[in-house]
Amino acid sequence: MSYIQDVLNGLVRTHPLQPEFHQAVKEVLTSIAPVLDRYPHYREQAILERITEPERVILFRVPWMDARGRIQIHRGYRIEYNSALGPFKGGLRFHPTVNLSILKFLAFEQVFKNSLTTLPMGGGKGGSDFDPKGKLDVEVMNFCQSFMTELQRHIGPNTDVPAGDIGVGAREIGYLFGQYKRIRNEFTGVITGKRLNWGGSLIRPEATGYGTVYFAQNMLAVRGEDLAGKVCTVSGAGNVAQYTVEKLIELGAKVVSLSDSNGTVHDPAGIDREKLAWVMELKNVRRGRISEYANQFKGSIYREGLRPWSIPCDCAFPSATQNELSGDDARTLVKNGCRLVAEGANMPTEPEGVDVFLANRVLFGPGKAANAGGVAVSGLEMAQNSEHTYWTRETVDQRLRDIMKSVHEQAYNASVEYGATENYVVGANIAGFVKVADAMLDQGLV
Ligand code: NDP
Repeated sequence: MSYIQDVLNGLVRTHPLQPEFHQAVKEVLTSIAPVLDRYPHYREQAILERITEPERVILFRVPWMDARGRIQIHRGYRIEYNSALGPFKGGLRFHPTVNLSILKFLAFEQVFKNSLTTLPMGGGKGGSDFDPKGKLDVEVMNFCQSFMTELQRHIGPNTDVPAGDIGVGAREIGYLFGQYKRIRNEFTGVITGKRLNWGGSLIRPEATGYGTVYFAQNMLAVRGEDLAGKVCTVSGAGNVAQYTVEKLIELGAKVVSLSDSNGTVHDPAGIDREKLAWVMELKNVRRGRISEYANQFKGSIYREGLRPWSIPCDCAFPSATQNELSGDDARTLVKNGCRLVAEGANMPTEPEGVDVFLANRVLFGPGKAANAGGVAVSGLEMAQNSEHTYWTRETVDQRLRDIMKSVHEQAYNASVEYGATENYVVGANIAGFVKVADAMLDQGLV
């Protein structure tokens, strides 16, 4: 354990003032302590020092002009964290809170998540502090073109393949891809999340949400249960939240909440297919706020400034952003009878909350396992692009189900092997780590 503590202390010294990054690394390193005890060669080979240091961090200026002719300057980032298992792979986030700490935590998580998918992908993440919210289409395009003018030097279908994340949906991916193609004069699978008619994959938009629900199904199955009739709370109202709700409805669960950064809607009658279609139009076409839901549907309530975690539920699906579920929220959920939490978002539960769930035997699916379906189908999009072909909806969905089953199995089996049965935090971290660490050792000191 003192080896781990030494590495963590060194990390805080060399990467100061990056709390989210430290939080993510601490969780992984603490979980894998039993592996280091069992296999001392990882320590002899300084694998923790190597695996926590990103291979490359790119930071660049993004100048662009808004619709009123004013010059705007933002920061662009790409963290190329680890390529032991394949080309760097991970999303781009456009949000005013983006900084090095957040992107390094996301990239670090991505390394282990991608390892769990069983597909040949390394880990990375990138983005900008640019906020697409409230911007005109032409401004978003100007920004994306400027961002890609620099990023294109560093990426490629066999080098680094970005995708979407918060604030980067099909519109942004289109503008980014267009600029890459223009500069490089090549139509390749350099970015995933593309629209269907020009290289995208069926099921990619749905993949993270559907995959999170499949993971929840797999966890429940271990205890002989399923999702039918379960009351579920979902946070967020973006891509992941929408398709989590869609799959939950299909499986007979009752979803009673959605949220955004301003507040939460509680609909005790349940969000049905028609209401979800209205939400998708609101968020994806009109780009409106979730508060409008309460005006539209009688019986629902909007709670300004609140998150969904005080609403009683059987299962919770945090699907908005990091650290959106605190220790107190976790205690409230447990008190109200919550028995399963599956993280659609990345690291939405604060460490104290994770401890509360594990201590109360809540089935807890950490993001790096539960939301791995998104990047998994991105991997399938890369495979289709390189074969110059398209697979059917059924084929992709079946592969997604199989991958989520395998992610669950790897995490569950590792939890059993290391004496922490049903602790998916320990299981996912160990299973993800061993594969990456062994590949690094095979490839020498690079
Ligand atoms: P979207 O941009 O589509 O939606 C994000 C949602 O979260 C919006 O409702 C947004 O509300 C809300 N949100 C964002 N920031 C905050 C905040 N600081 N506090 C409260 N709410 C916030 O993003 P995605 O749905 O794609 O991503 C959601 C989460 O899932 C992220 O953690 C992402 O990293 C993770 N994820 C996404 C994958 C994907 O394939 N898209 C894959 C794996 C993980 P508002 O409109 O008010 O900002």
